[in-house]
Amino acid sequence: MSIRIDRQRCIGCGKCAEICPGNLIVIDEDKKAFVRDPRDCWGCAACVKECKFSAIRYFLGAEIGGNGTTMYVEKENDEIMYWYFEKPSGEKEMIVQNLKDNTTY
Ligand code: SF4
Ligand code: SF4
Repeated sequence: MSIRIDRQRCIGCGKCAEICPGNLIVIDEDKKAFVRDPRDCWGCAACVKECKFSAIRYFLGAEIGGNGTTMYVEKENDEIMYWYFEKPSGEKEMIVQNLKDNTTY
């Protein structure tokens, strides 16, 4: 499994379920999202980007040196997204993405 959903943060808006290309996410009777069969998740991160409540964490795999690091996003508005990378120690790094200018590096 490459993602985990924080039930405390999830408000059950369903955006992640709509965007998942494999239809893997469903909203349960408590109005919380969960991954129906985590083994089928291929880690595209679409749901991570869609969640405005930072409820979905993406685990960076050992094959890219993740070492337990997780990734999540915070959106300031429709133009700015912050990508956070949090190590198991709690140390964080952040990248700012301008969504209006996605093709510039
Ligand atoms: S997008 Fe975030 S808040 Fe909305 S249902 Fe999914 S995990 Fe919950
Ligand atoms: S990472 Fe991609 S495949 Fe996995 S649950 Fe999220 S949207 Fe679906």
